[in-house]
Amino acid sequence: MVKKLKVLFVSAECEPYARTGGLGDVSAALPKALYDAGIMIRRVIPLYGNVNMDFKYCTDFPIKMGPNYQGCIIKRDTAQKVPTYFINNEYYFNRDKLYGYYDDGERFTFFCKAVIKMLDHIPFRPDIIHCNDWHTALIPLILKSINSDIKSVFTIHNLKYTGSIPMQYMEEYNMSLERLSQCGYPDNIDFMKSGILNSDHITTVSNGYKEEVLTPRYGEGLDNLLIQRKNSFTGILNGIDTQNYNPQSAKIPYDIDNLNAKDENKALLREELGLEDEDVPIVASITRLDDQKGIDIIINAIRKIDIQGFQFVILGTGDQYYENTLSEMASMYPGKMAAIFAFDAELAKRIYSGADIFIMPSKFEPGGLGQLYAMAYGTVPVVRSTGGLKDTVADAEDGDSPVGFSFKSYTVNSFIEALKRAIDAYNTPLWETLMKNGMAFEKSWEFPASQYIKIYKSLCDYHS
Ligand code: ADP
Repeated sequence: MVKKLKVLFVSAECEPYARTGGLGDVSAALPKALYDAGIMIRRVIPLYGNVNMDFKYCTDFPIKMGPNYQGCIIKRDTAQKVPTYFINNEYYFNRDKLYGYYDDGERFTFFCKAVIKMLDHIPFRPDIIHCNDWHTALIPLILKSINSDIKSVFTIHNLKYTGSIPMQYMEEYNMSLERLSQCGYPDNIDFMKSGILNSDHITTVSNGYKEEVLTPRYGEGLDNLLIQRKNSFTGILNGIDTQNYNPQSAKIPYDIDNLNAKDENKALLREELGLEDEDVPIVASITRLDDQKGIDIIINAIRKIDIQGFQFVILGTGDQYYENTLSEMASMYPGKMAAIFAFDAELAKRIYSGADIFIMPSKFEPGGLGQLYAMAYGTVPVVRSTGGLKDTVADAEDGDSPVGFSFKSYTVNSFIEALKRAIDAYNTPLWETLMKNGMAFEKSWEFPASQYIKIYKSLCDYHS
């Protein structure tokens, strides 16, 4: 019998337990696709305070944190296809939000240490630990320092965010000065540097972003380290869960051969959000309200063009300044603009299915899932051509199979020009082509999962 490759997938987020953005979507869907492709996979995430589900107790043990010890309880959910372990510590994780605390570095140091220690206590020994983003990035460093034969893959979902921790929290590991100084020592140990330098292979979530982060403009000061690891660095475009995000499960179901029902979803969305019934496209944005996402150029564009010839819906959470500004604007344009400040996955689906145009004018975008969800629902994307957006959105004016509209320079005018092209194309024969091409665009996880498996196998000298 062929031995199955064993992978432990480690993340700070995973739908349906905890999600603030795309990381939670990927951590739910990619392990499922890996499982379907024959990988023996387990997942591990922190057990946050707002998760009200009943999980099975597995084991507990203490973790050294500087001069003190913190208790760690391991729980497990076996109800999903991919069994998930939870790292439970009330002090670190029983809080209102997932992140944004002064001690995030300490919290995720605890998480990384607990994941490694958990392996001494559970009946699952992985060949590979697949780490995701900075929260997990000390794991490759710890594996190297304990001379483990477990290999690590480190996926960068966003290079902008990192954490750090004083050396005293890591001093029980026997690490060479050379290894430590590359990771930031004698100042704090930097998570992102640790992941980049100590993992056996690095991936990021699109080829476009991979190329970008090797340059100073997008490299967040880490471009030189990434260049050092260039031969072990791969861009793999994210997929989406095409079962979960499917127009056939919309309130009024539709598909590529029956697009008329999309209009009925549009009418329902207007009713729900108090928008007028008029023959104009609905332009939508579902996003973290963060500088990265181009919220400033969205705001300035809408002010400049005064919502002429379209309606605008935005669903987002984040920066209070953006919330206040958008909320003021929505009150200036009653019946034309709706701004909802909540994290609401079901409303997001109603917007993807009811809107006509989906905007993502991001400053940078590692992978981007929003444009893929929009395309799945026949909603035409208008994006800035960067990272994963560049890899997925072919402009109406070029290519064999255009799906939307894109612009290059990060300016209000360039964005307005692309948005106007989209609004002008609405209700023309081109529109249906764009909708259908977007819906037909291959976005399942099957191919990306096979690329990850190739990397796993290359690290384990695995022959099947
Ligand atoms: P990022 O991971 O940088 O936030 P992505 O486009 O990769 O951006 O993924 C964002 C994901 O989060 C998408 O699934 C999007 O639909 C979802 N999302 C973002 N904000 C909200 C919100 N306020 N309510 C519901 N879903 C949201």
